[in-house]
Amino acid sequence: MSTQNKATAEQLSALIEYADKSSPLTSTDLEALIARQRLQKTRPFHPNDRLKKCGVVNHSPVTLHKVGSRIYISGLTTCGNPHLCPVCSRKIMNRRRYELTHGLNQAWSMGKSLALETFSLPHRLGDPLKGQLDALQACWSAASSAKAGSKTKSKYGVYGYYKVLEIKYSHLTGWNVHLHILWILNSPLPESDLTEFGTAMFNRWAGKAVKLGFQSPNADGHDIRLVKHTKADFLRVGSYVLKDSISGATKRQSQTDSLTMNDLLNERLNATNAQYVNAWKEYEKATYRRNRTQWSQGLKGKLGINELSEKQIIDEPMFLAITAESLGKFTSDVHVQARIMKGLKDGGIDEAAWFLNLNGIDFHIVEHE
Ligand SMILES: [Zn+2]
Repeated sequence: MSTQNKATAEQLSALIEYADKSSPLTSTDLEALIARQRLQKTRPFHPNDRLKKCGVVNHSPVTLHKVGSRIYISGLTTCGNPHLCPVCSRKIMNRRRYELTHGLNQAWSMGKSLALETFSLPHRLGDPLKGQLDALQACWSAASSAKAGSKTKSKYGVYGYYKVLEIKYSHLTGWNVHLHILWILNSPLPESDLTEFGTAMFNRWAGKAVKLGFQSPNADGHDIRLVKHTKADFLRVGSYVLKDSISGATKRQSQTDSLTMNDLLNERLNATNAQYVNAWKEYEKATYRRNRTQWSQGLKGKLGINELSEKQIIDEPMFLAITAESLGKFTSDVHVQARIMKGLKDGGIDEAAWFLNLNGIDFHIVEHE
């Protein structure tokens, strides 16, 4: 058994292509596995960093769960980092999409309407990300939590909101951070009221930004619009604000576009551009322990949302916990790797047991009804 995995970029892309043809695993699932493996190899790690152990080290007896025709594996450590880990970020964002969709469905059936507001801050190349993220939070507090904010919200019939942080990077203009606010409203607002509402929120936002030493934000950094009153549009806007998870695959359309953090991770892994590599390192530090999403106070209860913590999400048994890295430990043959992936996906418990035996991992099997 070889302990070296010297898979080249060509082999990895062959793995993706082969698995695409032969199994229902999506290429993004595999890209996430491969990206995590590459990130684990490229980063210098603090000894306690869970990302280093994610999917590689076991925390309790490894168990194969057979559920119908599918197999899940549990017992391997997961890191649960929603900003950095390609595998955990996907799992967490999938769950968040599910929760938000459920909430928006509820809001629809209660006859609510929906508006989407976006805030950002003036920025230049070289402005630190941490400073922008801190300011974003402070400006949002000024716009929404102050007495004036509550008054505005009750005047326009705000039932609650869902807040999403989005971070982008441009090699020309630096960090560009946004807050997307999905407003759930008691009834559709006429265009003029909506503009009034958005302007009131934005003025407090901009006032705080200036106090913090930013240039006065202009209207380009702000937008508010009503979501069309159809169920399909309600649900579509939910997946729109949560579109961005990390897998390491390039999604960029053109060289002049801003990079999503997925694109930036891809740049980090390819390490061809020092500016992007440094930006990713800054991103790692600045996002430490920051939330990506948040429900307004009391809204989850009103919409009947059972929001799982990040820890609960990643602790659910997960088929994808078998990593490309652990596959690579005993073979660099992409066809064999793809066969195992396919075997696991199709519920081939013999394949899974064979794989774990080869890796010297002790395990037991539990069959669920
Ligand atoms: Zn992870």
